[in-house]
Amino acid sequence: MPPAMPISLYNSLSRRIEPFSPLDPSRVTVYLCGPTVYNYVHIGNARGPVVFDVLVKLLRRHYPQVVYARNITDVDDKINAAALEQGVPIGQITSRFAQAYREDMAGLGIATPDVEPYATAHIGEIIEMIQTLIGNGHAYEAEGHVLFDVDSYPAYGELSGRDTDELIAGARVEVAPYKKSSTDFVLWKPSTPELPGWDSPWGRGRPGWHIECSAMSAAHLGETIDIHAGGVDLQFPHHENEIAQSTCAHGGKTFARWWLHNGMLTFEGRKMSKSLGNVLHVHELLKMHPHEALRLLLLRGHYRQPLDWSEAAIAQAISTLDGWYRVLRELSDITVDTTQPLPVPGRLEAALCDDLNTPQALAELSLLADAARQMPSAAAKAALLGGGAVLGLLQQDPETWFKQAGGSEVNAERVEALLEERRAARAARDFARADAIRGELTAMGVVIEDGVQGTRWSVAKH
Ligand SMILES: [Zn+2]
Repeated sequence: MPPAMPISLYNSLSRRIEPFSPLDPSRVTVYLCGPTVYNYVHIGNARGPVVFDVLVKLLRRHYPQVVYARNITDVDDKINAAALEQGVPIGQITSRFAQAYREDMAGLGIATPDVEPYATAHIGEIIEMIQTLIGNGHAYEAEGHVLFDVDSYPAYGELSGRDTDELIAGARVEVAPYKKSSTDFVLWKPSTPELPGWDSPWGRGRPGWHIECSAMSAAHLGETIDIHAGGVDLQFPHHENEIAQSTCAHGGKTFARWWLHNGMLTFEGRKMSKSLGNVLHVHELLKMHPHEALRLLLLRGHYRQPLDWSEAAIAQAISTLDGWYRVLRELSDITVDTTQPLPVPGRLEAALCDDLNTPQALAELSLLADAARQMPSAAAKAALLGGGAVLGLLQQDPETWFKQAGGSEVNAERVEALLEERRAARAARDFARADAIRGELTAMGVVIEDGVQGTRWSVAKH
């Protein structure tokens, strides 16, 4: 089954858009760095999973088998700290938040990956890989730690474009005394009795974070994989270290043939961070807004660019979906055969094949909606639904869409809730928030009038 339309993807390693060709077209392999499960994830953490869900959907349409792995990091110092702080066993933290993560991802309409490996289920493979690295001179043991010897791998820094001398100069002054070089990184570290640990040739300890992904991707996808994806914040040092470990453990074989990195999400122009108090958790957003609106917003920008999240942008996404669902509602009498996979219109497919240009694909979807409204037919409806499906959009019955909270301009309960929130914001003199709510109401097609007797609202004519 040769690809119908060539796919081109930007490779962070070559810094070029390259025509994609898998090593084995009968089994395409994709690995995405998953979460460290110690807390709820925020919407920024969902950008990669949504974007690469679209990529995997696209690949599945081109190749008979795609094996997609997204790992769970369930051993980490942040997990240990959270368990200590809450006074609960580590397993309680990891099982709770791994489950929450799966629910959040499913809530965003992300298909379950084929493999979801847990780091703690791969300790044997990790130890084996570390032994190989020690055996071939790329790692060394020191004071219960095992470190990767960065000097032993001259290509180190190729992905992130940093050279080792620069890294040494930039390293913090306090370098662990057991390290040969400040750039050497931990593969294994000793655990005190209260910390999780496994017996190893170097004593009871636990793996470093980077080696987990190298070991899990080799275990499930093979020594050379087609695509390794993740957020651009993981490019250095995580991905750089993964390349060094995997290449050196596998006799110089290429680790990942394509490296794909998604840009970061900002919130109203600022970095999303706990200290700024602007962290938006996925599970909370899913309670407030229709999931397709969140998904649409995450796909509205090109994946390699930074993307800004705002209340106004959510309102805009809802309004866009309202428009598309209105067309589908008008076409509800037209039957489309959904027993077969729906066709993906050529121009929309071409946009996705062009380095996953989702903004262009969404523009094409709008054109398909316009076309279906102007010239209703089964083919036009099928094109709209098929185009939506590959993006994970327009998956609901239009009636369901218009009834759900936030999804409709005629949802009185939702309007009242927003008006109440706006009153509270104004009372607290948070005018930016009040304006944002007004914007959201406008986008929903609601006109508000502030008068002496309070605020009146009505539905604007479209
Ligand atoms: Zn990783």
